[in-house]
Formats: sequence, C-alpha cells, structure tokens
Amino acid sequence: MGKPPEVRGNDSSPPWVSNAVVIVAIGANVYQHRPMTSVQTSDQRTLAYLAGIPVERVKGVGAVATKQLASEGVLTVADLLLTAPRRYLDRSQLSELATTPVGEIVTVGGTVTSFSKRRISRGRTMVEARISDGTGSVRCVWFNPYMKLEVGEEVALAGVIDPYRGSLQMKSPAIDRLNKLRPAETGRVLPIYNNVGGLKPDKVRDVVVNALGRSVPIVDVLPETILDELDLVDRTYAFSTIHAPDSLSDVAPARRRLIFDEFLRIQMALKVRAYDEFESQVGVQNSVKGELFNRFIESLPYRLTDAQVRVLDELLADMGARTPMHRLLQGEVGSGKTVVVVSALLTSVESGHQGAMMAPTEVLATQHYLGTEIALEQAGMAPQRNDVGPQGTGSLFADEPLTTRPVRIGLFTGGRVTTNFVEGDVSRKRGLGWLADGTVDIAFGTQALIQTDVEFLSLGIAVVDEQHRFGVEQRVVLRDKNGGGGVPDLLLMTATPIPRTLAMTLYGDLTVSVIDELPPGRSAIVTDAVPDSADIEIDRRIRAVVTNGQQVFVVCPLVDDSDKVEARSAVSEYARVRTALPDVRSALLHGQMPADEKSDVMHRFRAGAIDVLVATTVIEVGIDVPNATLMVVRTADRFGLSQLHQLRGRVGRGEHPGACLLSTDATTADGERRIEAMVASTDGFELAETDLEIRGQGTVFGGSQSGAHDLHLGDILLDHALLDAASTVATAAVAEDPDGPLVTDVMHEVAVLFGDSAQWLTRS
Ligand code: ADP
Ligand code: MG
Repeated sequence: MGKPPEVRGNDSSPPWVSNAVVIVAIGANVYQHRPMTSVQTSDQRTLAYLAGIPVERVKGVGAVATKQLASEGVLTVADLLLTAPRRYLDRSQLSELATTPVGEIVTVGGTVTSFSKRRISRGRTMVEARISDGTGSVRCVWFNPYMKLEVGEEVALAGVIDPYRGSLQMKSPAIDRLNKLRPAETGRVLPIYNNVGGLKPDKVRDVVVNALGRSVPIVDVLPETILDELDLVDRTYAFSTIHAPDSLSDVAPARRRLIFDEFLRIQMALKVRAYDEFESQVGVQNSVKGELFNRFIESLPYRLTDAQVRVLDELLADMGARTPMHRLLQGEVGSGKTVVVVSALLTSVESGHQGAMMAPTEVLATQHYLGTEIALEQAGMAPQRNDVGPQGTGSLFADEPLTTRPVRIGLFTGGRVTTNFVEGDVSRKRGLGWLADGTVDIAFGTQALIQTDVEFLSLGIAVVDEQHRFGVEQRVVLRDKNGGGGVPDLLLMTATPIPRTLAMTLYGDLTVSVIDELPPGRSAIVTDAVPDSADIEIDRRIRAVVTNGQQVFVVCPLVDDSDKVEARSAVSEYARVRTALPDVRSALLHGQMPADEKSDVMHRFRAGAIDVLVATTVIEVGIDVPNATLMVVRTADRFGLSQLHQLRGRVGRGEHPGACLLSTDATTADGERRIEAMVASTDGFELAETDLEIRGQGTVFGGSQSGAHDLHLGDILLDHALLDAASTVATAAVAEDPDGPLVTDVMHEVAVLFGDSAQWLTRS
C-alpha cells in the first residue's frame, strides 16, 4: 500500500479546531446506544470528528456553495471526503489525436480552438467545436442548445472518432471540462466529480482537495491486525488516494477500503441493535420437544422434510435458550413453513405461555387460523365447544397434565373474534379478555393484534408473517405485548425469497433459517409466455383445465381500464372471459369490492363453485386452493419478478401439477428479462438474484427500513465479499465487547454520518 501520497492543497492551513461538543450532542441525539466514551481532540482527527465540522469552514465554500452542497446532504467535512469522484482521467493514457485509432471508443484531451452554435432543422441547435492537442485536431458536434465552451479551455473527450471529410469528427462525445486547473491538479490522474446540487464538478474538486488538506492524517477506527488480515489500506491513504491518486492503479485499494467502511457501519449498527434488543435481554425460556409438541408432530399425515426438521431444530434451539429468539424464516410458497411455525407456537404453549401470529391481511390470518384449527383436530388436541372454563380443567395455567390438555386458539380481525372453543363469534372486548387472562393459547390476527388495548397474560413467541408488509415498528410492537416477564421470542417469516446479501443488509440483526426443499411429490410448474393478443390460445388453455375439473386464476395488473396505462384490467378481462367462455363459471375479484363480497367470492372459489377467478394481485399472497392448476397473468411484464413468482406459487399446490401462462408484449428490455427469467426458472432465490441484478440495489431497498441509502460506493452484489468481511468483523467485535473501542468508534460514526436517516436503526 505504501505511504500516503502527499496531499496537494492548503498545506499550510492549521488543522480543524476541536468541535467535540457538537459531535457528542448530535451523536447522543441520534443513537443512544451508550454514552460516548472517547472525546476527540484536534490532533485526533477521526471521521466522526470531521463530521462535526460544517462545510462552511472549508476554504472556497461560501453561502451559495453551502446551500448547493446541503441540497444533496453534504453538510460536513466528512460528507465532503465521502464524496468520491465519478471517474478519473488518466492523462498518461490519453490518445494523441494524430495517432488515435478511428472507430473505437477513446479518450482524448485538448484545447478548444473554436466554438459555434447554429440552428438546424426543426428548431434543433447544433453545437460545433474544434479541439486540438498539438498533434492534431478533431471536430466535435453536440445537439445540446445549452452547451457552451470557451475558446482556450481545456477539455477531455470520450467517444468514437470517425473520419469526416478528410478530417476527424466525434459525435456527441462525453466531455469533461478541465479548465482553470490549479497547478496542484496537473498531476497525471485527474479525479472527475459529479455536479453536487448545482456546484460544478471543478469546484467540487477544489473544495474536496481543500478539505482533505486540512483533514489528514485521519485516525483509523480499525486496528492494524484487521487491516492486515483483510488486506485493507488505512483511512488516511484511502481518502488521500480516492481524491488525489498518484496513479490509477492506487484507486482500487482505496475504494475497497471505503466500501468496507460503508458496509461495516451498517453491519455494526445492525449487530448492536441485535445485541441491545435481543442478545443482552432475558427471554422467555421454553421447554422444547415436550408431550404436546411430539403428539402434534406424530399426528401429521406426512413426514417432515429434512429442511423442515433442520429449521425446526434451529428454532427450538433459540426458543430453549435464555436469550430471546430473533430469526427470519424464509421458504418458498408451499415449502411447509406453516407446520414448522405451529410447532413453535405449541412449544411456547406447553411451556406455559401464549403464542401470537400476525399476518398482513384478513385472508392470510384466517387461513393460518383455519389451518391450525384443522391440524389440532387431527392431532386430537381441539377443545370441547363452549369450554371457556374459569381456569379449570384443561386451561392454560392449571396443573393439568399436558397430554390431556386441549389447545385454544382465536382469530382476531377487525371487530370480531372467532375461536375454536366457543360457538360463533364473540365481541373484541370479550376476546381480548381471553388474551389477558390466558384463556386463549394462540392468537391469530391482523394489525388488530397490535392495537393498544391488546395485552397477553404471558406471550412466549410472536410470529409475523410476510413481515416485509409491516413497518419496522409494527413488527416489534407485538413483542412488547407481553404482560408477563421476559422478552418473547420473535420469528419473522417470508415467502418472498431474499438474496443472501440483501438479507444481510436488510436484516443483519436477524438469524436466517431457510426451508430450501419442497415436500416430495410436487412437480415443477411449467411456465409459458404468449403474446398479449393471444386470447384464443389462452381461452383454449383455460377451457382444457376447466374441462378437467380444475380451476384457473386470471390475474390482471389493473382493476379497471385506464387511459394512461396500457394493460389488461380485471373488469374488462372478466367481461371478455364471460363472453368467450359463456358456459364456464367465472367471477371477478379485486381490492375495490366490498369486503363481504370479496370473501363470498373467495369462499365460492375455494368450494369449487367458481371455475375461473379473474382478479388483481389481491390473490398474490397466501391463497391456498389446491384444485387451482393454471395461473394466467395478463400483461405480465407489468409485474415485478417477485410478484410474478408469488402469483405462480398460487397453483400446483395440490395433487395435480400446475402451469403458468404469461401473456405479454414486453415493451421494455427489463420487462422482457423478467419474463425470460420466469420461463427459465422456478427457483425463487435464483429469481430474486436476477431481480436484484435487473433493478439494482437502489430500487430494491426502498422504504425506510434499510441502511442502503447510506451505501454510496458499495454494491451488495459486486462487493459481496467485502460485505461478508464487514459482517464478520462486526459480529466478532460485538461478541467480544459491545462497549469496546471498535464498536464505540464505529457507532459514533453511524450516529454522526447517518444523522436522521439512522432512524431505521434506532427505532424499536
Ligand atoms: P407454506 O406456508 O410454506 O407456503 P404450507 O405450510 O402451507 O406451505 O404447506 C403447503 C402444503 O404442503 C400444505 O398443504 C401442507 O399440509 C403440506 N405439507 C407441509 N409439509 C409437508 C411435508 N413434509 N410433506 C408433505 N406435505 C407437506
Ligand atoms: Mg427463548
């Protein structure tokens, strides 16, 4: 790595005056992990220290520049240092115009010798300039009316050079304006910055170099041993080199270090949160694999798959431990998550506690409830009707042998409560009473379970299904509903596969279990794509399935026709299907229908009274109708990849194999890639990786629950090895000493650098 390059700039300026009080104030405000121990002095310039110095203090930053920088969140000297160049111009690599090859992409540099603008046809403006580098010259044209160059200014051009009327020409080359270079910047490699909030790239470079000159050397947070082990350069070298490299080959190691630091901040924050919320807490300790559990497993009409057994063991190990579980359960649709989760809920019940399972929709919550009710009946564990008992025979906290003990469950949605031990629905008030006094062993429900009036007598485990549909706050509220002692176990589950690197960044505070195997006897779903106009072919496929006595979903992106979006709507597709297939029993289902009408349609479809259900994505999650074997998706390129995969998972859940038919005119390249991926693969994790590739991490993160907004240089796919390394370092540091210098220093950085955007980390 060598010694840091000398930083050219205001070498004579004094270092920053200590501003430690400000830093500590900001830090305490944002993240109150524990009091800051180390106070920085001016000869100990850490990154956190530099984050306490406003950009105004940098030479060359006036009121206007301050505003411009602030508009893109660059507020402090640290923010400036973290503003990495977009690319570099290596002057030693510039082609000489006299010998530049034609027809290839090249970078050339030179001086503007002429510049003119003129109107051409249809109001367009052509800008023409001639650039010379002493060996030759090139004519450049752009069709940008706002472009303005000055004769005599120095520029670099990237593009293809073509012969033109006996001379050379570049059409619309990328241009970097290198004018007004200060003597310090005439080294071999010139960093090129983005425009920041209107502050021109040249000016950004000036300001960053000024800031850097007064900031180095920067104290490193990482000890020498970790730097050596991971082959990372130190911070002073990294910042100096990224902004003022001696040679282009030095940039990569510098970048690598800065990317590692980005990942480390996020991973450290997640691991510290896991420590604060779970690992340092006293949980509800469960006795595992007892009578109730064993009876339930033995009563199942099938054997658990190896993956189910492994994941269940992981869950039970957590549940039996002193610290509360914090785990994410991933598994494809149909992989058998439900039985695993119910086993975990029963484990809590037989340890003398209650369980709760929250789902994002009423349909899903109801399905979990009904599925569990049936399973309990099969296992001979269902209570007598109207056996409410004041804590008498068979009730939760009596000294009753568990072998004879029935399990009482309740469904809490909106204002109604349904149970497996009282005939008919009861009022919410009465139902809540049963949670508070322990009459109900397991509660299923929607957000209705996390209202303020809900209190459990002794909640042992909280399960949150399709957890990404809940906010970060919502998923932990359930956990705080425990009236008894100890922090309940928390199990989040999702049927939407998340690539490993994404899971690490979004849920680095959770341990992940994956059921990566489907129960035997499932045949893979065959997927075909047809043009969106292929109504006749589609109807033929629908008829064939219905004639076989099976059912069909037809899913459309829109509820009703729209002037703005060209896509099939459920309303018009339903009308079309009714006309084209008059003898087939069809029905319409979408989110804008009244709730009772929706549940009536769903009920009739489930009962087999409807053959074809034309719907929107209301059916995306969790609907389980084993007799449905064909999923038709209209204008399929309108859907995201994970959505398509979810939809496809609605069929082939019974004894008959499923099929999926995508109708599309894929109008975009991304849309086309999604359809191709769907036809090629049924593996959810593979599709999720493809999705991440297509969309890029920026859009995948979205929402406020991720630290990805704080990733500037790092890319979780390209830099996954550094992400792994950062995660390992953070885990080890917290395990060794959550109050140690590495944890404290990095958390200090998190606090001062992420500012308000660190809310996602601190909320709990
Ligand atoms: P998920 O919740 O992961 O989508 P489910 O738990 O609903 O999947 O399981 C889907 C179907 O597979 C259910 O009908 C369930 O009874 C059945 N099933 C679960 N595990 C097994 C298994 N090991 N062998 C056979 N069938 C299973
Ligand atoms: Mg536990």
